[in-house]
Amino acid sequence: MTVPPPAADAPHVLEGSEWGSELYRLATAQFERTADVLALDAESRTRLLEPRRSLTVNFPVRMDDGSVRSFTGYRVQHTLTMGPTKGGMRYAPEVSLGECAALAMWMTWKCALLGLPYGGAKGGVRCEPREMSVGEIERLTRRYAAELIPIIGPDRDIPAPDMATGAREMAWFMDTYSQQVGHSVPEIVTGKPPALGGTDVRQPATGLGVVYVAEGVLERLGWPVREQSFVVQGFGNVGRVAARELYDIGARVVGISDADGGLHAPDGLDLPALEAWADERGTVVGFPGGTPVSRTAVLEVPCDVLIPAATEQQLTAENADRLQCRLVVEAANGPTTPEAEAMLAAREILVVPDVLANAGGVCVSYFEWVQDIQRYSWDVIEQQERLKRQLRAALAEVWAVAERLDVPWRTAALSVAVSRVAEAARLRGIYP
Ligand code: GLU
Repeated sequence: MTVPPPAADAPHVLEGSEWGSELYRLATAQFERTADVLALDAESRTRLLEPRRSLTVNFPVRMDDGSVRSFTGYRVQHTLTMGPTKGGMRYAPEVSLGECAALAMWMTWKCALLGLPYGGAKGGVRCEPREMSVGEIERLTRRYAAELIPIIGPDRDIPAPDMATGAREMAWFMDTYSQQVGHSVPEIVTGKPPALGGTDVRQPATGLGVVYVAEGVLERLGWPVREQSFVVQGFGNVGRVAARELYDIGARVVGISDADGGLHAPDGLDLPALEAWADERGTVVGFPGGTPVSRTAVLEVPCDVLIPAATEQQLTAENADRLQCRLVVEAANGPTTPEAEAMLAAREILVVPDVLANAGGVCVSYFEWVQDIQRYSWDVIEQQERLKRQLRAALAEVWAVAERLDVPWRTAALSVAVSRVAEAARLRGIYP
């Protein structure tokens, strides 16, 4: 289709804005492309382009050696239109306001696409968790939780795990919040241990969701899943679960990596043996069942389906020409730059966008939050079936819109999401 040029008065994020970052440029470029396809009015663009609330905190943490270090943390809430905001919190050296703003915007689209009653949020603390002790991470988590109290709450903003955070951090977060208000509030975060009101389905949900969506796409393309070879970049909460699930359904995982390095095995990796190796040594590196490759070179291993499940901006103008796959399934948030996306499109490599592929995590977070609020727990099977149903319904919608508008899946997914949020904003009007 021919995309109409943006209206002359269409707002753009100005250079030097508070949220200015490479990732925010990426997120807003995707939004603007979608807004052009939808011929979205200037008022809606203005209301959706920038995050509604951004909090930056600086706080001291006592380190194990007795010294005090100051850490910077963020929480960005992209839209307050759809309900409370929702999104993970990450610990990484690159965490910045601009990164959180981009990730918060994607959470808005992800929730809207899945029909979850949330706006998007994201937060995190700039730190190197791999160099911190458990005690230091606990003190950092508790203080970060306390710093966020002015803007979070079970009906205001509900954090969850993201990179380098999991059930352990969610338990400390929930405890800190509960201590502040004087009673247990399990619904303040999702991704908690099941003993604290979490659900067994949440931890594997993102990885499982990636596979459910990939299976759905492959089925529609007529490519039998068991005949495909897969490469997974990342061996954390998402990549590891996805790789194991693919192995269990009989597909071949021919490449994998973690932060330290990767492996290539054209006949397929023995995932249970690799998991045992990684559990013992803390890395996939050195595993005898594959040839070593670097964590970036793994992306160039020949395969049918490439699953970037590590971090953002991995498929770029620099390496997009060297990828040897037919389909990319974005398990990480924002792994493909707009430049790489254009190059992949020219090579007819299909891309299943992050907001669909990795939405399984927030979908089960929603189930967990509803159960905590209702004080009523659902059956595990029921949650798994609902997850599959909800993801497949979103996929069907994306597929139909992509065909109808003749646009790539990302634009189709964002069109569904952006239209929903824009419609809600229009109906609510502007206060006062
Ligand atoms: N951090 C996850 C994401 O990027 C999940 C967020 C949540 O469960 O709220 O989708």
